[in-house]
Amino acid sequence: MMSSALDFLDDKYICPHCNQEMTLCNAPPVHVGDGLGWGCEYLFICLNDECKLFVNGWKYIETQYGHMGSYRYMRMPNSNESYNMMVGSRLAFTGSIVDPEQIRRENERFCKEQEAIAKLDSCVEEHNLEPVLYLLLDPHPSLDTRKRAAELLKELNDLSCIDPLRNHDFKDTFLEQAINMAISAILANHFMKECPFCAEIIKAQAKLCKHCQKELA
Ligand SMILES: [Zn+2]
Ligand SMILES: [Zn+2]
Repeated sequence: MMSSALDFLDDKYICPHCNQEMTLCNAPPVHVGDGLGWGCEYLFICLNDECKLFVNGWKYIETQYGHMGSYRYMRMPNSNESYNMMVGSRLAFTGSIVDPEQIRRENERFCKEQEAIAKLDSCVEEHNLEPVLYLLLDPHPSLDTRKRAAELLKELNDLSCIDPLRNHDFKDTFLEQAINMAISAILANHFMKECPFCAEIIKAQAKLCKHCQKELA
């Protein structure tokens, strides 16, 4: 994560032209050849349609430049730099408004992932299946992280991992294979097998499934 929107979610800026609170937006891409970046991925923009700068801007731009447009007041977070930014329509920037709830949710998920990764080093020693399962069942962590988690399954040797893993649809074939192999190894270590009819875990030498009563070859 680069400079995060989280850093600015609690910031409040008031537009000097209308005294309304400004809106946190994703910075628009800079025109190629401009050479100037915003220096930040986020900007605070006054999106108030009644803002004096915006209302008067239409006439000003038409007389000055002879085309349709107006200005939105914007400022950089964590800096006193501000600009009157030319916009071609009322809707400019409304598509890049940052949704604070979404940012908070994403951050929460990211923190949980980091926590689980940090626990991988000690999970075998602590017989703690939880971080491994978390990383395997959440599709967001990187494939490398999830592969590393899959490798720990066999060492953890915990039968309770089987149900949640079997009930999950793994999109990556390599990961799926690694998990299948780990499950086979765990079952063998416990002298168990999965009933081919009902998928319950039963003794490897059982001739009859105690769950579905089917005869096993
Ligand atoms: Zn304003
Ligand atoms: Zn069965």
